[in-house]
Amino acid sequence: MNKPEIRELLIETTRACNMRCAHCLRGEPETRYSSRTIMKALFRNISRVSTLTFTGGEPLLNPSVIRDALDVCKAEGIEVNSVFIATNGTIADNSTLALLREWDEYTLSSCYDRNWDRYVSGYEEIGQVINAVESARAEHQGLVLAISGDPWHEAIPERNIFALSTVGHLTTDKLMDYDSKLVPQGRAVENFASDDLNSGHVLNYDPCYYDDTADTDRPAIDSLYITVTGDIMPDCNLSYDDMDEISHGNVLEANWPEKLLNLQIAFEQKGGN
Ligand code: SF4
Repeated sequence: MNKPEIRELLIETTRACNMRCAHCLRGEPETRYSSRTIMKALFRNISRVSTLTFTGGEPLLNPSVIRDALDVCKAEGIEVNSVFIATNGTIADNSTLALLREWDEYTLSSCYDRNWDRYVSGYEEIGQVINAVESARAEHQGLVLAISGDPWHEAIPERNIFALSTVGHLTTDKLMDYDSKLVPQGRAVENFASDDLNSGHVLNYDPCYYDDTADTDRPAIDSLYITVTGDIMPDCNLSYDDMDEISHGNVLEANWPEKLLNLQIAFEQKGGN
C-alpha cells in the first residue's frame, strides 16, 4: 500500500500542563511525553499532511518533540500545508519562538515550487515568491497559533501574547467568554452541573479513519489523533482516561496505516459507518 496522505493529524506532545483549568476535558495532567522514536515511526508512513496540530496538555511544554517532527518531515520531504497550535500562552522563550518560526517557513514553502539553490532578481521573480507566501497566508496555511482565553484559564504575561503574535498567524479562535456548553469529558464532568455540559455532543469511539472516496492504492485518512505513547484515536475530544481504553493501533507497529484500513473495512462490514 502507498503511504497515505492525512488531512488532519493531531499529535499529543505531552499530557503535562502548567495550568489546572476547571473545564479541562483531558482530566488530571500526567507527566508523559511523546518522543523522537514516535515521530519517526509516524512520519515514515505518511506522504503528506494538510493540517498538523500539536496538542496536549500544554503542547509547548515539549518543544523537543515539535523539533523532532520538523526534522523528520524535512528529512523525508513530507509536505505539510499548515500547523496549528492552541497554547495557554505561558511559554514564549526565544528558542521556542525560533522553532515556531521555522515551522512557519517550512509549511509556507509547500505553497510553491521552491528551489533553494535558485537565485532570483527583479520585479517579476521576487514578486512571485512574495505573492505565493501572501496567498498561502490568506488561506491560513503556515503556522497558526491560538492562545486559549476563557473564564477558566489563568492570566498570562502580556509580553507572551505580543511575542507569539510575531510568529505565524495568531487567531482569536480560542478566546471565548463562554456562553456555549462544555465538552462532557474530564474535569468538566467533575466541576460543572449537567446543564453546563453539551448533552448533544457526540463523542466518537468507532473507527472513522478513511475518506469515502479513498483509493486504497493512494489512501487518504481524514483524521488521526496520536497520543504520547503513539496510540491512534478516532476523536480529539476525549479525556485521557477514555483514550487509554480505546486504542485502535499504535504507530510503533509495522504497517500501521494498512492495519487501520483493515480495521475500518471490518467495522463497516459489521454494519458500522
Ligand atoms: S484546558 Fe488546556 S491549559 Fe487548561 S488545564 Fe487543560 S490542557 Fe491545561
